[in-house]
Amino acid sequence: MTLQHFIGGRFVATAATFPKLSPVTGDLVTDVCEAGASTVDAAVAAARAAVRGPWGRTSEQERAAVLRRVADELERRFDDLVAAEVADTGKPVGQARTLDIPRGAANFRAFADIVAATPTESFTTVTAAGGRALNYAVRKPVGVVAIVVPWNLPLLLLTWKVAPALACGNAVVVKPSEETPSSATLLAEVMAAAGVPDGVFNLVHGFGPGSAGEFLTRHPGVDAITFTGESATGSAIMRAAADGVKAVSFELGGKNAGLVFADSDLDAAVAGSVRSSFTNGGQVCLCTERLYVQRPVFDEFVTRLGAAASELAWGWPRDTGTGTMPLISKRHREKVLGYYDLARAEGATVVTGGGTPTFGDARDGGAYVQPTVLVGLPAGARTNREEIFGPVCHVAPFDTEEEAFALANDSDYGLAATVWTRDVGRAHRAGLALDAGLVWVNTWFLRDLRSPFGGVKASGVGREGGVHSLAFYSELTNVCVDLT
Ligand code: NAD
Repeated sequence: MTLQHFIGGRFVATAATFPKLSPVTGDLVTDVCEAGASTVDAAVAAARAAVRGPWGRTSEQERAAVLRRVADELERRFDDLVAAEVADTGKPVGQARTLDIPRGAANFRAFADIVAATPTESFTTVTAAGGRALNYAVRKPVGVVAIVVPWNLPLLLLTWKVAPALACGNAVVVKPSEETPSSATLLAEVMAAAGVPDGVFNLVHGFGPGSAGEFLTRHPGVDAITFTGESATGSAIMRAAADGVKAVSFELGGKNAGLVFADSDLDAAVAGSVRSSFTNGGQVCLCTERLYVQRPVFDEFVTRLGAAASELAWGWPRDTGTGTMPLISKRHREKVLGYYDLARAEGATVVTGGGTPTFGDARDGGAYVQPTVLVGLPAGARTNREEIFGPVCHVAPFDTEEEAFALANDSDYGLAATVWTRDVGRAHRAGLALDAGLVWVNTWFLRDLRSPFGGVKASGVGREGGVHSLAFYSELTNVCVDLT
């Protein structure tokens, strides 16, 4: 079967196709149609027609009801979505069942609630003549929103943007990653089954430059662009958006720090750091790649983290208890292994990992690397400044709180930071001191969809989540009426 685009409520094939390969074995998962400029034109036109039609004038309650039907339908297709996500990414089925796919439905339910409950402001104003005027803001759709997303948490990240965009009455054209086309295609089926009007959700498959991604983000018919992916891609899309002065929301890369203080619950800090460095094969923008540990507990922490990393279970994705997963592609594996080599060249000591595993079965055709813990990099080493996006972290010692905060902030990125401490004052000081959009204390990746999400510096532009998503996905018109 060849996965198709979804435009104006219908699946549409194109002649050009590309193969999607399994990261687990290297075998073909599926062929996928690739959209050229004319297919992207058709998708944008379908979205424009939908937003000009009755959908663009629906009330918040009506759209909230549609979003809840989408959530119900996502739950009905739960097993299909898990299978699609596991086939495309090789992630453990247990993770897909507890994190990736449930968040799809949760995103739609959350934004149904948020849009139905969030008022806009109104003010009574004294006029020059001493009378009264009423100012009130009306929330309107932005129009056609382009949504471009990566491969690491495909359905979760896609629905995180589709749900609020639809909640605000927009029509969308989505471009999933070429590496993960399957769950997005199922989402199109879900939209149709849930009764989302034709043209409100459109999907085009393809790559970035010279393909669907570039055609979409350069398209003059797009009103706003929301993007999750690498910082360099964000920069290219920002240039593409500049001509049309389009609104952009960017969730970009990270080189996230974890700070472990000697007063922390060390069991929790080790277990939490294993999660934060190795979940999803380290392929989460929020993953910790730089750990700083206070000197009295440094040696013990490194020993325990290295042991835990080397004991992560090498099962197949379908096995319960599997703790590792392949990287998304051989190409990405080359990049990550290049950083393992660079780390050694820069003077790192490898505590555990540093290479590729061998299985003696079909997984030897996949894109696996070993979870890796490094120590000993000098200050300024590239390995400790550039985002690797694999199961790897470097651990360095520190002495004082001030030094720890400075080390964490010494980065071009600023997405997330994690702090392990029992000192409540220090926890709050960290929240104020750290240059990051998200600071977790004694936890990691605990999300409340009403809270702001995004990064500072090269990690992003703007915030999504809760009312911040409503701000991006809608335009406010202020109406001022002289009541005299
Ligand atoms: P990527 O930037 O290579 O690709 C992301 C998407 O953009 C894909 O759909 C791709 O086809 C498309 N694309 C690529 N070049 C384009 C161009 N010139 N114009 C238009 N579209 C283009 O990123 P990736 O490798 O898929 O994902 C990994 C990156 O995503 C990491 O840097 C990671 O930190 C980041 N990420 C960030 C967040 C966050 O919330 N901040 C979440 C997940 C992933």
